[in-house]
Amino acid sequence: MSRDTLTALVRTIPDFPKPGIQFRDITTLLADGEGLRELVERLVAIARPLDADLIVGIEARGFILGAALATALGKGFVPVRKAGKLPGPTVGIDYVLEYGTDRLELHEGQAPVGSRVILIDDLIATGGTAIAAAQLLQEQGASVLMALFAIDLPDLGGMAALKAQGIPAEAILTFE
Ligand code: 5GP
Repeated sequence: MSRDTLTALVRTIPDFPKPGIQFRDITTLLADGEGLRELVERLVAIARPLDADLIVGIEARGFILGAALATALGKGFVPVRKAGKLPGPTVGIDYVLEYGTDRLELHEGQAPVGSRVILIDDLIATGGTAIAAAQLLQEQGASVLMALFAIDLPDLGGMAALKAQGIPAEAILTFE
């Protein structure tokens, strides 16, 4: 399946969650069997040579892609969640949003010192979420080999910001 066909499976919802935002909805791609397989195969092709120990997915759509990637590679999957969702003892990081702050958490001990991890989410926009997640992992002593995304919005500069922090980043699709 071509990149254009895969791109066409992403639906754009205007004015969600706020007026003026064009939300790129991947549920239409996920619901398409061939599209889902193509997306996961492309992610696997990038990730496999890195031989990571763990796949870390960001809530919530990063769980779907991260679990598929981890399964294909035969590696474990670890979730990074919004504050208060994980049941066990956590470590966390607060990060600044356009308005206010948010917090990401990880179960203590699930990104061990020296572990080599791949971070994954469905989409990178400003990069705020992925950079915070990467920092949280690095604070635990893990090494972030790469941040992977289904979609990059290059106009918002997130991938460039991640790379400026020394974290390699790749996306399968881009929306200008
Ligand atoms: P950032 O922190 O890079 O500005 O925003 C990325 C985070 O917000 C990701 O967790 C992503 O799932 C979510 N997000 C922001 N905009 C969109 C969008 O248009 N579509 C989807 N699917 N997720 C988005």
